[in-house]
Amino acid sequence: MCNLRFNWVTNINIKMFKKRIDLVLTLSLIQGILFSQTAVQSSAPADLVNPLMGSKSNFCLSTGNTYPVIALGSSTCFDHNELMKGAEIMKVNNPPAEAFVLPVYTELPLGAVRPGGWLLNQLQIMRDGTTGHLDEVYEKVKNSNGWLGGTGDGWEETPYWLDGAVPLAWLLDDKTLQDKILRYINWTLDHQRPSGYFGPVTKTEREKGNFVEVASCGEGEDWWPKMLMLKVMQQYYLASGDPRVIPFLSKYFAYQLAALKACPLGQWTEWAESRGTENILVAQWLYSINQDKALLELASFIESQSFAWSTWLGNRDWVIEAAAHQNEDQWMHRHGVNVGMGIKAPALNYQRTGNVQYLADLKTGFRDLMLLHGLPMGIFSADEDLHGNNPEQGTELCAIVETMFSMEQSMAISGDVEYMDALERIAYNALPTQTTDDYNTKQYFQIANQVQVKRGVFSFSLPFDRQMTNVFGMRSGYTCCLANMHQGWTKFASHLWYATADNGLAALEFAPCEVAARVGRGKEQVTIKEITDYPFDEKVSFELGTANPVEFSFSVRIPGWCREAVIQVNGDDLQRVKGGQVIPLTRTWKNGDILTLQFPMEVKISQWGRNSRAVERGPLVYALKLGERWEKGYHEKEGDYFCVYPVGNWNYGLTAKAVSDPANHFEFRKVSGSTRPSSGFVWNLSHVPGELITTGRRIPSWQLLNDVAPIPVTDRHGLFKGAVNDSTETITLIPYGFTKVRIVAFPVVP
Ligand SMILES: [Zn+2]
Repeated sequence: MCNLRFNWVTNINIKMFKKRIDLVLTLSLIQGILFSQTAVQSSAPADLVNPLMGSKSNFCLSTGNTYPVIALGSSTCFDHNELMKGAEIMKVNNPPAEAFVLPVYTELPLGAVRPGGWLLNQLQIMRDGTTGHLDEVYEKVKNSNGWLGGTGDGWEETPYWLDGAVPLAWLLDDKTLQDKILRYINWTLDHQRPSGYFGPVTKTEREKGNFVEVASCGEGEDWWPKMLMLKVMQQYYLASGDPRVIPFLSKYFAYQLAALKACPLGQWTEWAESRGTENILVAQWLYSINQDKALLELASFIESQSFAWSTWLGNRDWVIEAAAHQNEDQWMHRHGVNVGMGIKAPALNYQRTGNVQYLADLKTGFRDLMLLHGLPMGIFSADEDLHGNNPEQGTELCAIVETMFSMEQSMAISGDVEYMDALERIAYNALPTQTTDDYNTKQYFQIANQVQVKRGVFSFSLPFDRQMTNVFGMRSGYTCCLANMHQGWTKFASHLWYATADNGLAALEFAPCEVAARVGRGKEQVTIKEITDYPFDEKVSFELGTANPVEFSFSVRIPGWCREAVIQVNGDDLQRVKGGQVIPLTRTWKNGDILTLQFPMEVKISQWGRNSRAVERGPLVYALKLGERWEKGYHEKEGDYFCVYPVGNWNYGLTAKAVSDPANHFEFRKVSGSTRPSSGFVWNLSHVPGELITTGRRIPSWQLLNDVAPIPVTDRHGLFKGAVNDSTETITLIPYGFTKVRIVAFPVVP
């Protein structure tokens, strides 16, 4: 409790509110989930009858041909009806600004997608580990938390944690975790100042007992952690429909618009200037609900005070400079996590202005970034700064999860398959390797060609004195990743499906799950069960469940790597289509219909830094399989940690024959006895579902140098001309995500 001499403003009876949540969650357990997803015009939403609740209710998500409307009614159609009773009706009085562009794909309410198979298993592990218990095991969040009114940490780590914990709690429908999260959300909502300012009690407030006001905005504190809390509130609203959220956001944004002139984004830290996109994202989302033009003004204002990501991404000087320089001059411009967040800036600017040049900037910038700084596992180097494309470089875990979130937003706004493919490549390659099976420890930096995991300086642009950036530890490296890593899998799971503007559904990423929504003109309730061992198998099946036949568009992404996909309905070929597009399948769907996608996966060779080559099959990148020897260590400041050393030789080159004719020199084998992905597994050596067998030749001179494995120099044909072993050997490659030590970018040998 704080000792301020004033009373906090409280607008709602929390006990009543909590009781309603209990009731709603109990009902939802019995009744399952009902979602509504329907098209509307710009007028006020039409009423629907919610058959599960037996009451009249407005829909919870609509994607009309004008703008999306979410949970506007006095009650909702999904399992939070009770919660929404008495909710303030958000009047849709103003038409949307003409320039504002609707997203091509609209996010579904949190909880509409229920993950299954290995993905469910992954989320359950997270719930049982640090994601579900960070406030118990991590002192910085645990002790006198500033976001609960205490004098402890009130900066970024608690909202980082909540940003992943909120989707986890609602994806799993886990009441215990929801209650835990609600403590922080309730405190934040209840302690908004009359001016609209929110967040931990500031130093001046404690000393003087005054609220922060617009006129005294300088007595406030850093804008940056509040940007994260805005993301938390947005998700919480999409999950719960809590009527307190929208007024809270509106009030804060009004404060922000009034205060930013005197207290600009950079008033306290450069982090706020570098990460203004997070703030813009939520302001524009709120605009899509209430069409308050002041929110667009605010978004433009924030953009003007933020790093110029759109300009930098479109103007190639920035990315070239970043490849050439790792000095301290403007290092925040090259900071990998800033880049991961900033990369969605052009998409948001396009959404606000309708200027398609922004989409061109995004395309140019993303391609340049991956060309000059890209690593085979689908992410750019970020150790901590952008650091070129040499496979001995590393990437921070925060850069991975933030880039994933930016892709989830960019693909929705632009509809561009390139970002859908990019998201999947990061999720299924870069993400799984950087944490341990229990999701309790992580690496601050992973390395592409990581032949050992240990303490050391390596080739990073930020060689911490303690040399703890590469080991697996809970508190090793910098702890932002411990707080932030939770949003990777959770938001991937909640963004497998989106709504389409014609009142349909779109499967844009593939994983075992089930989605429930109302579709078509009649807002028919459907469930779609996605059964698949993808990305390890070529087949994805969808089973329709509907009480009545219903016509709606069911859109599916055909990945860019796929030469030709086969689409079947109930076993009959429907279409053969080229990869790199989203195909809408509009037809009358019946109960029990099965839509099947076949994505033939070919082995392909791609080229990476230092003229190296990587092996790909479908969405997966393959790396040399090595045994692992784990060693536990202890650091007095950073606690327990793990090192991993290779068992077996890693200094192989791929043969020129295999690289030039991969179809005939790589054999794909399903690993017998491995757990089927659809029934749950963890990403480690003992659960590899499939492997590639080929031949390689050892390069005896390729040895460790300063703890890394610098790629041997090859000629312009990509061939290593030094001494190699006479004999070829059979080598096994496994998906990158299952490895902790590996070679993924290979030299080529005769
Ligand atoms: Zn981090």
